[in-house]
Amino acid sequence: MTRPELTEGNPSLSAEISMQLSTPIEELKGVGPVLQKRLKRLKIKTVRDLIFHFPSRYENFSNIVPIAQVKTGGVFCIEGKILTIKTTRTWARKMTITEAIIEDNTGSIKAVWFNQFYISNILKEGDFVCMAGKVSAGKNGSSLQNPVYEKVEENKNFTHVGRIIPVYPETTGISSRWFRYLLKPLLYSLKNQLPETLPKDILDAQKFLPLEKSLWQIHFPDSMEITKIAQERFSFEELFYIELSVLRERIKILKAKAQSIPTDLPRTQNFVESLPFKLTDSQKKTSWQILKDMEKTHPMNRLLEGDVGSGKTVVATLAALNAAKAGQQIAIMAPTEILAKQHFQEISKLLFKFKLSIALLTGKADILRAKKLKNETIEISRKRLLDKIYQGEIDLVIGTHALIQKQVKFNNLALVIIDEQHRFGVEQRAKLCRQKNFIPHLLSMTATPIPRTLALTIYGDLDLSVITELPKGRKKIITKIIEPKEREDAYNFIRQQIEEGRQAFVICPKIEKKEKINSEKDFGNWAGAKAVEEEYEKLSKEIFPDLRLGMLHGKMASKEKERVMRDFKIGKTKILVSTSVVEVGIDVPNATIMMIEGSEHFGLAQLHQFRGRVGRSVYQSYCLLFSESSSKKTHQRLVALVKNADGFSLSQEDLEQRGPGDFAGRKQWGLPDLVMSALKDITLVERTRAAAKEILEKDPQLKKYPLLLQRVEELEKTMHQE
Ligand code: ADP
Ligand code: MG
Repeated sequence: MTRPELTEGNPSLSAEISMQLSTPIEELKGVGPVLQKRLKRLKIKTVRDLIFHFPSRYENFSNIVPIAQVKTGGVFCIEGKILTIKTTRTWARKMTITEAIIEDNTGSIKAVWFNQFYISNILKEGDFVCMAGKVSAGKNGSSLQNPVYEKVEENKNFTHVGRIIPVYPETTGISSRWFRYLLKPLLYSLKNQLPETLPKDILDAQKFLPLEKSLWQIHFPDSMEITKIAQERFSFEELFYIELSVLRERIKILKAKAQSIPTDLPRTQNFVESLPFKLTDSQKKTSWQILKDMEKTHPMNRLLEGDVGSGKTVVATLAALNAAKAGQQIAIMAPTEILAKQHFQEISKLLFKFKLSIALLTGKADILRAKKLKNETIEISRKRLLDKIYQGEIDLVIGTHALIQKQVKFNNLALVIIDEQHRFGVEQRAKLCRQKNFIPHLLSMTATPIPRTLALTIYGDLDLSVITELPKGRKKIITKIIEPKEREDAYNFIRQQIEEGRQAFVICPKIEKKEKINSEKDFGNWAGAKAVEEEYEKLSKEIFPDLRLGMLHGKMASKEKERVMRDFKIGKTKILVSTSVVEVGIDVPNATIMMIEGSEHFGLAQLHQFRGRVGRSVYQSYCLLFSESSSKKTHQRLVALVKNADGFSLSQEDLEQRGPGDFAGRKQWGLPDLVMSALKDITLVERTRAAAKEILEKDPQLKKYPLLLQRVEELEKTMHQE
């Protein structure tokens, strides 16, 4: 039941406390613990959050018509006197019905509300009211259904009707009416108290409205045209902060000192010749860009972008090899433990003949392994390993997030390589080093295609190197949506592939059958989703009883995970039933089938990542998509995957379908809606970037703009996850 939490007719609710943007929401009159909790669901904690909770759309009720002109089927706004109003309770259906008759000098009309009995406490016979809503035909003639209403005061300063009204993103128990009701007096009480955040020059040059006026026009528009200008101001402003922070990061980088790493051409040549394959042109080009960057005396800040399977690891290894000289150290950070281990094995193999000390450091295991000289692997205690890293006895440390814990200090860190985790600020990098005068070079790697708007905004501090081709001889992965009735055929096909010597992945959305429904899962019905444990049982007992299968999920002990991965990699097990832990980077070239259960539970970027686990050799590979959902949207997404083989065209399609959400890693950045929609607008992005450049050229420290600086610093904190 929707019920306003505040009694109407108290417009000055917040006038008596001195209002500031940082005032906690619970200090507003009428906001008790219940509302506070509900507002928190919308991430509204302060007055600032509240006034920046923007409408998702508007309804135009500005045209008040004579009742005689109202027609069935339309949405109308009328004004008149209440002749009668009463609430009745229908016991049978446990419902209340409130009915009123409103009259003006052209006629009368009935208004009906369901389950809003309190309305007859607010509106009384004889009141003058304005109402807006849809007019529907009923048994006893037409009536306004659940209309929005408001008493007509002398000055007709309407909030809910008789104007363009805002409709807000809602949550249970807080209606748009409530937002309007709270916001109006709040905006009044903040009059002349909202410091302008944008510099005056920019407001003038961009022809924007000042802050206070923009807020009014966003919440209580005079016209949709002005609202658009106000919206643009806020989109600009959010992008502006991002631009300022990435450009400031660029300035910091140019000023910071790094160890220049001269390219060792013979050694590089030697490495390239030792590879079992020829580098692609893209790999050569990007390697060169990286080597040239590392020669500079300020830190490299480069993002290596290349589709799954394009061979980023070799490029990174080549960079690491160059840096591993003269007592310099390299850190490589992977997003998961499995991937860190795989990198450790792969890179140790690639660098075998160069006799480097390579260590693996992850969070869970306190026994760690160091690879020394003759490719022997020894286990050493964490304490000893940390000490060796500190003393500079280890050249290359590969690990998870554990690498950036406080206890880990390098003796002379020259290069940091990060796989699939793009944001790593200069300050954070500085903290990794024992000696304070140098910042390590940074190479970040991603399989996520970066559209231009993002390259110019959230990735704007990074230089971009793009691998545009896959290694030669790769066959296009055949992607198919499999109907439930074709399941049998699919299993037969898998068997056939295994008989030919290949291997298969089977991905399930969750670990156990009875796993809790996660409210964050917005795709499909989580409760019915396939579980790894159950699927593993079924496949190994009923479908493939003669084959060896492996099972992998995030809750397993790391030793166990390692064993399972190794067994699959060497072909001891033929089918690996797994959760999304295999999503990034797992490299088993002999696997040619990626079968995905419950595809509707995964995002497009994620599905593309899964698909990238196969097609890593000369064998034809297949991606089989299963889905329990019959939703059109799901189907559309899967079709996009079938149609688009490469990540770039897929991300383009995704961008068009849904905005830069999925691929850009919205979750990763936690960007507000406003920014997400602004990011679709390249012209706006370019305008903002130019404005940010201009202001930083004049005032790099933003000394003249303390407010701006404050906002930018706040943003930097969240972007760098400090
Ligand atoms: P990603 O870019 O997804 O990280 P990887 O670095 O894991 O890709 O490489 C995928 C596979 O391709 C690996 O097995 C790797 O050895 C192989 N590979 C890399 N470069 C080439 C190349 N130029 N020719 C043939 N195979 C290559
Ligand atoms: Mg990789």
